[in-house]
Amino acid sequence: MGEPFFYLPPESWSSEIFLDKQEAKHLSRSLRLAPGQTVRLLDGAGRAGRFVILEIQKKTIRLERIEEQILQKPEARAVLAPAFSKAVRRGFFFEKAVELGCDAVWIWQGDHSQGKLPAALHATVRGQMIAGAKQCGNPWLPEVRVFPSGIIEVVAAADSVDYRILPWELQENVPMLALAQVGRPGVSLYVIGPEGGFSVRELALLSGFTPVSLGARVLRCETAATLCLGIHWWASHAAKNDVNTLERQL
Ligand code: SAM
Repeated sequence: MGEPFFYLPPESWSSEIFLDKQEAKHLSRSLRLAPGQTVRLLDGAGRAGRFVILEIQKKTIRLERIEEQILQKPEARAVLAPAFSKAVRRGFFFEKAVELGCDAVWIWQGDHSQGKLPAALHATVRGQMIAGAKQCGNPWLPEVRVFPSGIIEVVAAADSVDYRILPWELQENVPMLALAQVGRPGVSLYVIGPEGGFSVRELALLSGFTPVSLGARVLRCETAATLCLGIHWWASHAAKNDVNTLERQL
């Protein structure tokens, strides 16, 4: 196993570095690390670093910086906008969103959403996102925005993106999501309907989006969102590999 990752919020990165609460417990009690061992810290805003453990006290752990760097955001950025759905699966999606490099998650109140979108959703999903970051070492946590007024807010926020993709399963001869549509440099927005599907009103507001199919099977909201993100992630790396291979051959 490589050096374990821990989360330290941006405001705590000062000359003296301490871990406390959950992160201190994870390091000392779960992983039973000792002074002299090295770990990696992430701040969720692009910064990552390597640190040596100096001292383990009851509630805090003192570390010393070995190196740190700010990693740039990827060129091909994905914004996933799944409609609000049941909590049981939402946590899973947020952890995958970090592992698959999602730039932002916009959760919106669908006409057919089951339940009401809580304004403080960010707080409930932060733990899952940090778990995802510690799992994979991604120093960027997705920005989380909630749109309680629904799709009208998503459409307004979409002014800032480069590509607007609408995975929709209830369409006759709608083209499959194509390789050329994913992983492109710039910001791609994928809007996913709720468990009850898009309403006619929502579809009319989404008329400026490109409808695509994800195949004949009707997928759950979180599955469709994770699939779009996974394809985007793969394509953005495959394209980069192609460029790297090309550059190596030149
Ligand atoms: N309309 C479906 C129904 O009534 O059974 C439910 C919607 S599905 C659970 C949730 C969302 O995932 C859809 O609105 C769509 O955005 C996306 N989705 C699911 N399966 C899809 C597919 N095969 N192609 C494109 N999008 C899909």
